Formats: sequence, C-alpha cells, structure tokens
Amino acid sequence: MKIKYLLIISMMVLSGCGGTDSGVPGASTPEIIPAQTYSWRMVTTWPKNLPGMGVAPETIANMVRKMSNGRLDIKVYGAGEIVPALEVFEAVSRGAVQMGHGAAYYWKGKIPIAQFFTAVPFGLTAQEMNGWLFHGGGMELWRELYARYNLVPIAAGNTGVQMAGWFNKEIKSLEDIKGMKMRIPGLGGEVFEKAGGTAVNLPGGEIFTSLQTGVIDATEWVGPYNDLAFGLHQVAKYYYYPGWQEPGPTLEAIVNKEAYDSLPEDLREILRAAVLTVNNDLLAEYTARNNAALRELVNVHGVELRKLPDDVIKELGKISMRVTASIVDEDPLSQKIFKSYTQYRRNVIAYERVSERAYSDARALVEDGNQW
Ligand code: CA
Repeated sequence: MKIKYLLIISMMVLSGCGGTDSGVPGASTPEIIPAQTYSWRMVTTWPKNLPGMGVAPETIANMVRKMSNGRLDIKVYGAGEIVPALEVFEAVSRGAVQMGHGAAYYWKGKIPIAQFFTAVPFGLTAQEMNGWLFHGGGMELWRELYARYNLVPIAAGNTGVQMAGWFNKEIKSLEDIKGMKMRIPGLGGEVFEKAGGTAVNLPGGEIFTSLQTGVIDATEWVGPYNDLAFGLHQVAKYYYYPGWQEPGPTLEAIVNKEAYDSLPEDLREILRAAVLTVNNDLLAEYTARNNAALRELVNVHGVELRKLPDDVIKELGKISMRVTASIVDEDPLSQKIFKSYTQYRRNVIAYERVSERAYSDARALVEDGNQW
C-alpha cells in the first residue's frame, strides 16, 4: 500500500515538473504562488502593558500572526510611541497606520454620536452591548458611521461595569461635585459638567500625575483591576461605585478602509475573528480579576469604599437622559443610531427585570450567612 501511494505521489510530482498538463483531472501540481505578506502597525490609546486593555492589542496581533501563519504581521505601539493617545482615530483614518485600538467616545469632539458605541450613562451593560451590536443592528450602524471616516470598526473588548471613581472628599449630595475638576470622558463627562463640575478628557497614562499634582481633583478610570495597576489609591482616598457613567463600555479596533480592503478574504476573516475573541475574553478577564483587586485595595491599601447616595444617582440619571438625547443632531444617521439604541435599551430592560436583575436580587436575599 505504502509503495503504491508513493508511486502515485511521484507520478504527480513528475507530471508537475514537466510543466505540461497530464490531461488527468487533478493530476497536475497547482502553481505555487508565494503568499503575500502584510506588515501593519497598530496604534493604541492605552499604555502598552496595562493589564487587560493594554495587553489586548498584543493578543490580537499574536492571534492574527499565528492564524495567518505570519501572512499578516501587526506591530503594536502603545499610547504616545508613534501617535499620541487621542490622535489614534485621525492617524488610522488618514492611513498613516493601518489599525488602532481604543474607544469611540474619545472622538466625541469630532463625532458626538460615536459615544453610543462605547458607553452611555445609565445605558447598556457589557452583555447588552454585545446583544445590540451583534444581534440588534448596532454593528451595521457603527460601520455606516465610520465609513465616512474611511474606517472599519470592530468591537474589541469590554471592561464590564466600571467604578464611579476616585475622590478626595466624600460625595453626599450633588453640591459636593460643584466646582470639582474630574477626569471623566464621554457622555459621563458632559453629565458631570451639567451637574456643576468640570470634565477633563485625559488618556489613562496621564491620570496619576494629574491627580497627584492637583491638575484634577478626582478621576474615574476603569475598575479595581486597572485602577490598582495605576496606583490611584496612592493619590485619592475614597473609591465610589457604581459606574453610572460607564455601565459596560465597548472598546474598538479600527482599521483603515483601504488597508482592510487590500487584504484577501481569509485574512480579513482572521483579523475579525481575533478581534472578536478578544472582545469576549477581555470581559471575562475583568470579571475574574476585579474582585481580587478590590479586596487588595480595601484590605491592603486601606481604601475607603463608598456607594454614591441614591439621591445623587437619581439626579445624575435625570441629567443623563437630557444630555444623551441632546447630542443627536439633524444628521439622519445620528437619529437612526439614537433610535436603535434607545429602543433596544427599553426592550432589553423589560426582560432584564425578570432575568439578570431578578436573579441578582434573588441571590442577594440568600447571600448572607449562606456562603459555600
Ligand atoms: Ca472609565
């Protein structure tokens, strides 16, 4: 059997070497074209080795390299290495680099409605965002919006519900926010301004020093896992929850349209698959790591954990509804995105009441004194 098999192989090879078609279907050796390789650069809005989101771009690049057998090679640059954090969108849009990783709400100065693709105060949670984007029409709208800027977006991670932030004074009423300068990006920042504070949009890498030197009075960043890594507990005393401003922010990978179109279909699919894997895995990582990091912040570093008073939450909620609706302009696409998001939110909350929330309430009832 083995000899017969080898004989067939050598006949096939010989017929191929002759450069003539043997006339037998499937017997000629297919022409071997060396696979084209693509060398890309990905810039990010994150410090390079920040746990979770700072590592995610590397994870994407490594997966793509392996899955494509090296045909698509992406080199990752952290914030400021070749492009400043808040210029990632522009750099990818004009094709200076092929790809970027960040969050859509950083570009609100240019595209206010883009904020819906990251986080809306009192809006969708991480899993609800995934539902809207992938099964509720969200991704199509996002692609339509970014096509105007020569970009292809892919959802690329989620931190889950964040923390309200770090403060050096207690928040007992909305009065305590007045005159306060806080790093708080996106729509949350606009709500904060309407509540009497001043919102600053700083990239992650500048938060610690800004808070330490008094450039800002308070900050939100992500949650315990990332905030501990930045050492924010060294420059603020009170750690407030819940993260009303970012209930489940989606991160984005953006690809320059020409670069994306230049890839053969299999590489486009490999790229998409790698990014979507990270979109899911990042949420899993934050879910697994946040709780241990919070324990360390409280038990080892003596952080004062505080819940925002209900009255403050209610006031912020009222302002949020107004501010969120106010960013919709006369552009039909902007209106379409707002309508799609708000309708989905209404529908998903109706079921969340009898599923996730009802279950959380049920578990809380039996939690005390009933630990395994
Ligand atoms: Ca945040």
